[in-house]
Amino acid sequence: MKLIILGAPGSGKGTTATVLREKYSLAHISTGDIFRANIKNGTPLGVEAKSYIDKGALVPDSVTIRMVEDRLSQDDTKNGYILDGFPRTLAQAQALDEILAKSGSSIDAVLSIVVDDEIIKDRVSSRRVCEKCGASYNVRFKPTKVEGVCDECGGKVVQRADDTAETVAARLETYYKNTKPLIDFYEKRGLIVEGNNDKSSEDCLKQIEEGLKSKGLI
Ligand code: AMP
Repeated sequence: MKLIILGAPGSGKGTTATVLREKYSLAHISTGDIFRANIKNGTPLGVEAKSYIDKGALVPDSVTIRMVEDRLSQDDTKNGYILDGFPRTLAQAQALDEILAKSGSSIDAVLSIVVDDEIIKDRVSSRRVCEKCGASYNVRFKPTKVEGVCDECGGKVVQRADDTAETVAARLETYYKNTKPLIDFYEKRGLIVEGNNDKSSEDCLKQIEEGLKSKGLI
């Protein structure tokens, strides 16, 4: 099963993708996580990406597309995967079509996570993530057992540098301008499966699994 997950920053894409990864043995490919790992390791890709990420802007398509093509060629994607945070522009979506066409494959469904903007701003400011394994927490709704320490791996739990109020506003604007049009793009192909994450991630997951079932994918 080859999936894309779309949604505004902080909509819960990562959380939903993590559950689906475990349940259906999919590779979870998060472009944001790959960029952050490169920034942490000080690679040339990380240095370039950081200047855009810090502003809440998108990393250029050429850099991002090359990185994803390379990732999709790795063995762990053979059983299927979930693309989280990619594509984010129409050019990326078209490039993805071309990459997949080379191996005669295509995307099976596009999960669209819908959340009210006000809820997003509120959630992102209290979001915290593990630097080591990427597990996601929320100081109000899902705190770690020990403050600042990841329940899963013991890593350090921090606020993402781009989760500040100003950067979130810029990221939301970028999302509406560049990424939201992709919903239409995939809707026309009948690929969209929607989940509403205003209230609970369990409800959202249930809606998504029902949609995948009705497409005969699970
Ligand atoms: P995320 O973790 O998905 O919220 O991504 C964090 C940041 O990484 C975004 O705000 C962008 O600056 C950058 N980024 C992630 N994925 C992409 C992409 N597909 N295209 C361009 N920039 C991206």
